[in-house]
Amino acid sequence: VPHFQIEDLHVAVEGKEIVRGLNLEIKGGEVHAIMGPNGTGKSTLASALMGHPAYEVTGGRVTLDGQDILEMSVDERARAGMFLAMQYPAEVSGVSNANFLRTALNARRGEGNELPVLKFHRLLQDKMKQLNIDPSFAERYLNEGFSGGEKKRNEILQMSILEPRIAILDEIDSGLDIDALKIVAESVNNLRSPNIGFLIITHYQRLLQYIVPDHVHVMMQGRIVRSGGKELAEALEAKGYDWLKEELGIVD
Ligand code: ADP
Ligand code: MG
Ligand code: MG
Repeated sequence: VPHFQIEDLHVAVEGKEIVRGLNLEIKGGEVHAIMGPNGTGKSTLASALMGHPAYEVTGGRVTLDGQDILEMSVDERARAGMFLAMQYPAEVSGVSNANFLRTALNARRGEGNELPVLKFHRLLQDKMKQLNIDPSFAERYLNEGFSGGEKKRNEILQMSILEPRIAILDEIDSGLDIDALKIVAESVNNLRSPNIGFLIITHYQRLLQYIVPDHVHVMMQGRIVRSGGKELAEALEAKGYDWLKEELGIVD
């Protein structure tokens, strides 16, 4: 069962501190949601956890099962079972979706444990069907010319194939219509088990009606300022963020 811990994390972008002392603990089987206004550092947190070079960790500790992930390369983090579905997935020309996924999956499984090609394609077809993704997407270049919604479903496809231990979903709901949102939520819910912990980043509460979180955290100005259960997300939906800013004396 995975155990993921962030302690007093500080992250700077271009010399400016964006994440400013963030603590969070996620255990296998749990779904945590981070909500917060735009520009509070949610995507910065996600990128730093995955080791994106533009995001400089200036303090704190992050461990997965006691192992320091900040010491690991991007590849090592992925192999350890960290996964990020990005807010703005990149387009990669010249690499088919299927080849990208097979390489990523085999890297995750490790040398000597690669999935045979035919089994991989069967797995890919099953997962694509579940997510209502057209079979032709397997051979298309990664995200190239995909619509916003298609890119998001493709991120979820990657997640369901890689079966990470800690899955971070950054605004996976943006650009999805209600039917696509339900499909995405269903595949996240299907993956829920003690073997995986989720961190779901979202601006809106809508997604959390379909993926019901165990814990909800509000992030403002680079820190978690309030934690609660799903009722906290409902309060934010009903009243916005201003009441909480007032309560906390936050001026921006
Ligand atoms: P959120 O995801 O909560 O909307 P972000 O993490 O995207 O917030 O952004 C937080 C702050 O960090 C913003 O002021 C943003 O402009 C800045 N920032 C994030 N990423 C970069 C980057 N790659 N280059 C420059 N500034 C960045
Ligand atoms: Mg944003
Ligand atoms: Mg963001």
